[in-house]
Amino acid sequence: MGSFASMLIYRLPNNDRQITIWEPQSFCPACKVTLSIWQMIPFVSFLALKGKCGSCNVKINISYLLNEAAVAAMLLFLVISLGLSSVLTWVIFLLVLILYVQAMMDLETLLLSQPLSMVLVISGLVLNIGFEIFTIPLDAFLGLIFGYGLLFAVNLLHKMIRETDGIGAGDFLLLGGIGSIFGASSIGPILLLGSSITLLVFVLNRKVGNTQLPLGFGLGLGAIVYSIFFIALNLA
Ligand SMILES: [Zn+2]
Repeated sequence: MGSFASMLIYRLPNNDRQITIWEPQSFCPACKVTLSIWQMIPFVSFLALKGKCGSCNVKINISYLLNEAAVAAMLLFLVISLGLSSVLTWVIFLLVLILYVQAMMDLETLLLSQPLSMVLVISGLVLNIGFEIFTIPLDAFLGLIFGYGLLFAVNLLHKMIRETDGIGAGDFLLLGGIGSIFGASSIGPILLLGSSITLLVFVLNRKVGNTQLPLGFGLGLGAIVYSIFFIALNLA
């Protein structure tokens, strides 16, 4: 699942028409040589190859290993808290995986996937209207409207003053999806946490002329942290 996440993070924002989610088979981004089956085994292959491509010896980006470790840690936390056989474990894992992919994609490319955000919106509504997993149905609706509307309104204000977009439209839908899952009351803490993380990344990583901040990274990570607390306090 971690290397699946890496694949989505690399391929979803890729403009190359020949690279889709389904094709081609995994390859080295430097020398384009197709990986053998054993070179696709997470962790093991990275250590066996000492972090370098087996063909061209170019260093493999450490983010692959970090993604695998982060996703494994999240699943481990869910299994320990909710149990291996609980449907909820796997449903929440899928949602967290989407949040993680969005966050890392935004950090690297400043792009978010609208279809993945739509999956969050629909999942939140279905889970809460059908089963009240995270909150009551009304709160899920309000979360969607409030999450989307708040960033939309801030952007509108920015547009009126500066005549350009201040926040990417992808962020509206992402926060709308997060709101539909965790409810309207989650928007405040997640937005605060998310914008703090984003500002921190910006300050640590400051380059001359860089004016764009990965808000989606902060929101995705903020929502994951929120879900950890939510699970520990309410579901475990
Ligand atoms: Zn290579």
